[in-house]
Amino acid sequence: MSGQVAKAGGRAGSGDLLALVRSGRATTRGALQQATGLSRATVGQRLDRLFRAGWLREGAGGPVDSPLGGRPSITLEFDDEHAVVLAADLDTRHARAAVLSLSGEVQAEHSGALDVEDGPGAVLDRLGRWFGALLEKAGRRADEVCGIGLAVPGPVDTDTGRVVQPPIMPGWDGHDLCGGLARAFAEHAGGRADTVVLVDNDANLMAYGEQRAGYPDCSAFALVKVSTGIGAGVVVDGTIYRGIDGGAGDIGHIRVPDGADALCRCGSHGCLAAVASGGAVARRLAAAGVPAASGSDVRDLLTAGHPETAALAREAGRRVGEVLATVVTLLNPGVLMIAGDLAGTPFLTGVRELLYQRALPRSTAHLDVVTSRLGERAGLIGAGALVVEHLYAPRRAEERLAALGF
Ligand SMILES: [Zn+2]
Repeated sequence: MSGQVAKAGGRAGSGDLLALVRSGRATTRGALQQATGLSRATVGQRLDRLFRAGWLREGAGGPVDSPLGGRPSITLEFDDEHAVVLAADLDTRHARAAVLSLSGEVQAEHSGALDVEDGPGAVLDRLGRWFGALLEKAGRRADEVCGIGLAVPGPVDTDTGRVVQPPIMPGWDGHDLCGGLARAFAEHAGGRADTVVLVDNDANLMAYGEQRAGYPDCSAFALVKVSTGIGAGVVVDGTIYRGIDGGAGDIGHIRVPDGADALCRCGSHGCLAAVASGGAVARRLAAAGVPAASGSDVRDLLTAGHPETAALAREAGRRVGEVLATVVTLLNPGVLMIAGDLAGTPFLTGVRELLYQRALPRSTAHLDVVTSRLGERAGLIGAGALVVEHLYAPRRAEERLAALGF
């Protein structure tokens, strides 16, 4: 492989050069010449646009040897301080929002009660207010925000930015979340009403955030979020796999054997989420006289080492593990990450028991079953990264540079 980018015709633009620098594949002028086949002068002109836009800076590390020989050359790096991203992660009863740097560092963060059952209007309005306060806390201006990422606990058609028949988000079906959140950002935080907003499913964004942060070389990565509901996200070759209309990974509403009498929040009986989610464990505990109403209550009990909760979590893990045997057989992932309120030793033990028993040994031979690294921030980090990758992808970067007058 030549490793050259669009060498034929010398058409690599500023956006392509930025992508080479950001990926670490070429971080000096010489390496960029070699990777693209462009002349020194042309590389210089194309880099100049990136410098003028403030997107690129000279690295702090000092000069390194050039692949073309001659004088050592200055390394180039993406300037992750020239703008910020806003991100929000909605759960059914609470939400988390943050100001992030372009490399995903949290600059200000807030979490609090926010009920999706209040409907999209009220919830997006509140997020707009949170964003205003967070920018102030981070000492950043609304005009420094390049985009907003939003994670929601339901299936999303990412082409339209609308949730599609969400089982646990009553009143949200088909609502324009991108437009609504951009307007709330404009109204309450002084941002631009045409700010780019990307919406995706929470498990997808958690998977994206975790894969990039901890397993960048894993080409097939699956994450299962088990909180009040159950959902899965899959990242293949570094890209979120969504299926044809955003429905991929919605495993919480698969009917499971002997779950028939359990009523699910989606209105059906016998769903996996009705028998093995944090919500289901909370209901079993409450019926036994232990005060618990949600997945987060279950998490608190697990943290405190409550034996009955641990036993129920392990049983829930076995139920989920049975479904994951099919998931793992279909996808053959290298990493299966268990995240959410129930993710802990008892649940993981249950998952492993059934998974290794039911899946073909071939599908699990190179499989790591692990817990989350980013914890409660995974969805936020993933949402921020999705926005950055979208805005700084070569063609999009080229369009934005032109629109900025560079
Ligand atoms: Zn259901």
